[in-house]
Amino acid sequence: MPEKWKEYKAHQRLVNPKNKLKLDVIVVGTGLAGASAAASLGEMGFNVINLCIQDSPRRAHSIAAQGGINAAKCYQNDGDSIYRLFYDTVKGGDYRAREANVYRLAEVSNNIIDQCVAQGVPFAREYGGMLANRSFGGAQVSRTFYAKGQTGQQLLLGAYSSLSCQVKAGKVKLYTRYEMEDVVIVDGRARGIIAKNLVSGKLERFSANAVVIATGGYGNTYFLSTNAMGCNCTAAVQCYRKGAYFANPSYVQIHPTCIPVHGDKQSKLTLMSESLRNDGRIWVPKKLEDAKALQAGTKQGWEIPEEDRDYYLERRYPAFGNLVPRDVASRAAKERCDKGFGVNNTGLAVFLDFSESINRLGLDIIMQRYGNLFEMYEEITDVFPGDLANEINGVKYYKPMMIYPAIHYTMGGIWVDYELQTSIPGLFAIGECNFSDHGANRLGASALMQGLADGYFVLPYTIQNYLADQAVWPKVSTDLPEFAEAEKKVDAELDRLLNIKGKRSVDSIHKELGHIMWEYVGMGRTAEGLKTGLKKMHELEKEFDENLFVPGTKEGLNIELDKAIHLRDFFTMGQLVAFDALSRNESCGGHFREEYQTEEGEAKRDDENYFYVGCWEYKGKGNEPELIKEPLEYEAIKVQTRNYKN
Ligand SMILES: Cc1cc2nc3c(=O)[nH]c(=O)nc-3n(C[C@H](O)[C@H](O)[C@H](O)COP(=O)(O)OP(=O)(O)OC[C@H]3O[C@@H](n4cnc5c(N)ncnc54)[C@H](O)[C@@H]3O)c2cc1C
Repeated sequence: MPEKWKEYKAHQRLVNPKNKLKLDVIVVGTGLAGASAAASLGEMGFNVINLCIQDSPRRAHSIAAQGGINAAKCYQNDGDSIYRLFYDTVKGGDYRAREANVYRLAEVSNNIIDQCVAQGVPFAREYGGMLANRSFGGAQVSRTFYAKGQTGQQLLLGAYSSLSCQVKAGKVKLYTRYEMEDVVIVDGRARGIIAKNLVSGKLERFSANAVVIATGGYGNTYFLSTNAMGCNCTAAVQCYRKGAYFANPSYVQIHPTCIPVHGDKQSKLTLMSESLRNDGRIWVPKKLEDAKALQAGTKQGWEIPEEDRDYYLERRYPAFGNLVPRDVASRAAKERCDKGFGVNNTGLAVFLDFSESINRLGLDIIMQRYGNLFEMYEEITDVFPGDLANEINGVKYYKPMMIYPAIHYTMGGIWVDYELQTSIPGLFAIGECNFSDHGANRLGASALMQGLADGYFVLPYTIQNYLADQAVWPKVSTDLPEFAEAEKKVDAELDRLLNIKGKRSVDSIHKELGHIMWEYVGMGRTAEGLKTGLKKMHELEKEFDENLFVPGTKEGLNIELDKAIHLRDFFTMGQLVAFDALSRNESCGGHFREEYQTEEGEAKRDDENYFYVGCWEYKGKGNEPELIKEPLEYEAIKVQTRNYKN
């Protein structure tokens, strides 16, 4: 039978309505991106294998999202539009995002809200019943939909209910407490994965017609971050090692409003949502002597009167004020603290103050908007930001929050094309783990928008372009040598880590890596610092390889072993961030090279030489990866210097 005819027959079998659709897709991750994609693919008739490391999809890191999700509904009648959301996002990303992707994102933003409302997500509403909005950084319109300070949790419950329907319908098979350790490539295409059952410790093989990773960002490379403790980049790094390009790794977001580091024993930082900047005003004292007194603890913020306060964001950026994008706000806080105006004992904090809004609106309204965030702040610091503390010249002063920038989100990620396919055919990446839409800086409330756009409205359609011709191919067997070899390698790695039998715990090494990252690859980078950082990372990686101690065995639950695997990959990731930062001799968005700044301390881009997506190809452990450039093309938007001043 001629080849073509065989294909035709096979296709006939598939389109015959009596035959069930036999296409399998693996979706790794059940955060907002993964859960929405798995549910949608299941609903469309694919057989989905969905894995996550937690004991329930509902515990994915996405539940941490507090402030909201953007959409261009223009319910406030304030001039918003799809074009404006598109424009703000491209500008917010410092003109380093792909224009076409961002336009698509803005286009589907409204569908996301409709979808989630239909699922029963309890978005905040106005008195009259309309969905309420608030503002986030980098926008002069009010387009952020929210559910108190628990937007991520409510959206994830919505996605989870859709996912559960598909589990019940038999279209999604859910594997909780499973970690993807490797992607299996057969004849140049992603055909499956090797996953570890985290409870039994056993390695298992899964094969499918396509693999989608939705495994989140790599912020925890820095050890201290606002990310959930379990966030890791193992799946993404493993795909990178297998040939998937990693794009723009140096674009790391540092969020301006986090509770400051308070000690050496800390393992996690807490975000105070950007939504607080709608009503909270950021300031430090005007006078150095006041700052010194605050640092010494002999004065409190509420003892400093209005005229002695420097609302530096409002001063520097009158048009956007406290709602400038995160990179701008973070650098401005650092600049003030570097000049000695920090307000806590370490000198690394600024105030976020609600006195003016409480005086204007009353505490009840402020609590309705941010109640759970105020309570969270009180639980951690023992200070309640709604407590009246002082009255000077008839003006009431409430206790302010103290905040400082911290690692929060990663704009870089696995490179994908417009269809969200990586450079390995059959391997797709969605949500925070891809690089697609945020350029060099993500605007607040845009990560949930992107994750759900990818999961509900983009991937389920684009993946079909790939799967269309896959319908004629049988699903490959997990007995193929490629699966056996991948499994053997993962197993050997587990043995290697267990058999180092050194003296240092995973956390002690990870913390040291975090210090190196923050110091040399953090908020302010220099060529020299990056080279030093790379050298220190190499040395520490050697220490990891020779002096790590992992207790227990491969069998059964071994959290330390799992953390060791994650740390191995954070090393690869940290170096990649540094290589990319070193290669980009400009400042843009979250990537700030101190050599490239304006006289006013703003980021100085170099569009002539760096107007591209930096894609990195793995070249083996210890070797410098190779940089491949994807030129950016802008047709609709004029590339210009970002301006938030007027
Ligand atoms: C404190 C905080 C507040 C935020 N608030 C907002 C906000 O208000 N608005 C906004 O737009 N964005 C916000 N963000 C960002 C946003 O929450 C994330 O970018 C987004 O939720 C990421 O979703 P995701 O589905 O891509 O990944 P995640 O939610 O991180 O999910 C990753 C999934 O992958 C699984 N996984 C990971 N590795 C493996 C592996 N190897 N094998 C198997 N499974 C694996 C995990 O189990 C999990 O299910 C916030 C972030 C933080 C940290």
